[in-house]
Amino acid sequence: MAIITRFAPSPTGRLHVGNLRQAIHNWLFARRHGGQFWLRIDDTDAARSREEYVDAIHADLAWLGLTPDGVERQSARLARYQTLFDQLVASGHIYPCYESAEELDIRRKILLSRSLPPVYERTSLHLSADEHAAKQAAGIAPHWRFKLNHDAPILWTDAVRGEQRFDPRLLSDPVVRRADGSWLYLLPSVIDDADMRVSHVIRGEDHVSNTASQLQMFAAIGAPTPNFAHTALLTGAEGKLSKRLGALGCDEFRAAGIEPESLIAKLARLGTADPVEPLIDRAPLIASFDFGRFGRAPARFDMGELETLNARIVHQLDFAHVAPRLPQGMDAAAWQAIRPNVAHVAEAADWWAVVEGAVAADMVDADDKIFCAQAAQVAAQIIWGEDPWHALTDALKASSGRKGRALFLPLRRALTGRDHGPDMAALLPLIGQARAVERLEAAAAR
Ligand code: GLU
Repeated sequence: MAIITRFAPSPTGRLHVGNLRQAIHNWLFARRHGGQFWLRIDDTDAARSREEYVDAIHADLAWLGLTPDGVERQSARLARYQTLFDQLVASGHIYPCYESAEELDIRRKILLSRSLPPVYERTSLHLSADEHAAKQAAGIAPHWRFKLNHDAPILWTDAVRGEQRFDPRLLSDPVVRRADGSWLYLLPSVIDDADMRVSHVIRGEDHVSNTASQLQMFAAIGAPTPNFAHTALLTGAEGKLSKRLGALGCDEFRAAGIEPESLIAKLARLGTADPVEPLIDRAPLIASFDFGRFGRAPARFDMGELETLNARIVHQLDFAHVAPRLPQGMDAAAWQAIRPNVAHVAEAADWWAVVEGAVAADMVDADDKIFCAQAAQVAAQIIWGEDPWHALTDALKASSGRKGRALFLPLRRALTGRDHGPDMAALLPLIGQARAVERLEAAAAR
């Protein structure tokens, strides 16, 4: 079977971390099985869909490096939906309804008060031809429901959730089209999945009950049913579905200095039995991607954990990968030296300022001033080769008798204006002899 997945966002807002995770799952599964990953823009809701969000979806996928093998748009397929809709009306699978939202709400409440399932009672299905005519004469435009087959139990084996069974009698016939002619998501999605020959519908478990009715729609249009994988949803660190997660998207991650590699490594494995690892290479993430490894419990998304993972990813990034984001003049050696000390690429600029710019001389203790004067002299005299730090500290060890912290800390403070930082052996060649001597003299003279 040809493997085809699709990521099907509605362009009614920015993608949030839950959507991004779905995109990543669809991409990984397609790559794992040598299949295709499609992007489908679900923009049947003309009032709420916006072109800027379509652009943002493309930009977000590009930032993550999830290149779709093809793109579909529902707004370009309305004629196709109409054709199948007409057929389904003719075959009795879709029927017109006239109840107002208020009427439906009252019926639901009555059923609930009698401890009955709040299911649509098919009142409109049973109207006579005269009653239909009367509704139409009264100018009431119908909305349309898909008639579930009550005699066909709904069963499927979900790749994550296992055996799923729904009694169609306990489901309301879903509304597929509004009175103004606009489409709800359910039927167009089925028509698209059939036409696009989607083999695996991979989405969040909030769609499980949609799947139940969509399975009957596939049957009604004579299409084979795809496989389904419904993953447990994400929760915030506080253990419940949070608004914060819904507002967390690529822009926020990028602004926080999170690398796309970190997000992929995290979201590929979150909620699975496999450990989240700082993997830059996608090959092992693809190779290990398996719905059998997914748990049923909601997966906790923790920004702090993502930050930790991100730092470990940043420590592995090549110069070429980050070069466009580094300050002018910072070269591969500088990135190599500084990389272990930054959690975000942008912080490299702070350390580059330490290499190039002015440093505070007053970090050095008064007791260390004479030592710094001595160090300035040694620094001016040693042969400044490949490894000036060891040349400098070896000479000073011998002449001052200092060792360990007493030897190294005053030098670090005088040379960088800080207590901590990148390995001095890597940093000192970047600082260079002239600046080093100047800084040691400044510390001695403070
Ligand atoms: N547009 C739907 C959504 O964003 C697609 C769901 C699906 O994957 O079928 O929820």
